[in-house]
Amino acid sequence: MNSFLAQRHFEETCVICEIQKPKGIHLYTSFICTDCEKDLIQTNTSDPKYKYFLQKLKKINTPEIFS
Ligand SMILES: [Zn+2]
Repeated sequence: MNSFLAQRHFEETCVICEIQKPKGIHLYTSFICTDCEKDLIQTNTSDPKYKYFLQKLKKINTPEIFS
């Protein structure tokens, strides 16, 4: 992961909104922008939107990270 830190200024594509953003978090090998991260945190698990997020996150090989 050190190579990621060295390239912090380099924009990465968010796994959820699929837009290149300069800021965000790394979840294993995937990048989630700060906007989507906030959105995800604020979304209730009963909200249909939450399932949408989970489907996106399924691309990442990390089962049940947010459950
Ligand atoms: Zn995003």
